[in-house]
Amino acid sequence: MRPTTATVRLADIAHNYELACRLALKSKNIAVIKANAYGHGMLEVAQSLQTRVPAFAVALVEEAAQLRDAGITRPILVLQGANDAADIKEAAAHDLWLLLHRQQQIDELLSSKPKKPLRVWLKLETGMHRFGLEPAVLDQVCTDLRSSPSVQQGVVLCTHLACADDLADPMTRQQVSLIRSCSEKHNLALSIANSAGILHWPETHADWNRPGYMLYGNCPTGVFGSESSQLRPVMTMSSEIVAIRNLEKGESVGYGQDWVAKKSSKIGTIAIGYGDGYPRHAPSGTPVLVNGKRVPLVGRVSMDAICVDLTEIESVEVSDPVELWGESLYVNEVAAAAGTIGYELLAGLTGRVPLLYEPSETTL
Ligand SMILES: *Cc1c(COP(=O)(O)O)cnc(C)c1O
Repeated sequence: MRPTTATVRLADIAHNYELACRLALKSKNIAVIKANAYGHGMLEVAQSLQTRVPAFAVALVEEAAQLRDAGITRPILVLQGANDAADIKEAAAHDLWLLLHRQQQIDELLSSKPKKPLRVWLKLETGMHRFGLEPAVLDQVCTDLRSSPSVQQGVVLCTHLACADDLADPMTRQQVSLIRSCSEKHNLALSIANSAGILHWPETHADWNRPGYMLYGNCPTGVFGSESSQLRPVMTMSSEIVAIRNLEKGESVGYGQDWVAKKSSKIGTIAIGYGDGYPRHAPSGTPVLVNGKRVPLVGRVSMDAICVDLTEIESVEVSDPVELWGESLYVNEVAAAAGTIGYELLAGLTGRVPLLYEPSETTL
């Protein structure tokens, strides 16, 4: 069997979730497990967290239905709401909470006759210009929802922060002040914070928070302050050296001869590539850990393999352990080298990488 695996420490997800709760003691924290729990396995993560969390959040009705089919009974918030009448039916059948972001979704819900009234959140446009209702329509929408038999009382007003990962950006305060005034005016419960909000912006903590990335032990800002340094990376992507060869000065590695040895060099091949979700844009120099030591990637990333320069490592053999990212090499750092963010690397893991779970007993 190929030695490439992603180990997922479920106890560390619990630890990170508890950290989110400690940072925002007055809020209820919904665990965001969309996109296969950021690559960590949605069902396993949901099972390990379900006794701790008041609710889960996913992007799609399809993801929520998968959770219900697997026996998850906690409330599930669907962040993009229903796309059509069939979704509303599905939401009613599975008792899902819908986050509504456009008038058409509201109209569809009001004209549908679900068996039980549905729990509804409203997405407010506060600057992201992606999903959300304009503040000016809230009066009418609240009146309509409050008088509809299709809707449960207790609507929550929600927005998403555009720039919370930049601690100097004034946008976050503008968004917070707009949504807080709307929630007061319309007497609605409130949800603002994602991971960056929970970690770095106490003024974004509200009735409900929505941590995602931090649950997996990663800091969205890459700034490790006192709070984020308590996070524990949950996934370790590991492999082994599967070949070693010596190159003379002038010989090259991989497709396109992108990297050429400047002196005699020892090159190791590792059985992971973009077919697994390792970023193809990672350039020569991207860090990889071999035997716990940092070595640079060399040459282009292929579908099934990468190469590293082992010249500076004293003793290294085929089968020696490799960490691509994890506890000792943060996914943020690998992502930054590849010109992307850790979110993309985690969510982009392909089904070819076996996920191995370590037990969910918490160490807290
Ligand atoms: C994905 C998502 C989150 C979680 O964001 P993180 O940065 O991963 O904490 C929260 N809210 C909404 C609406 C989202 O789409």
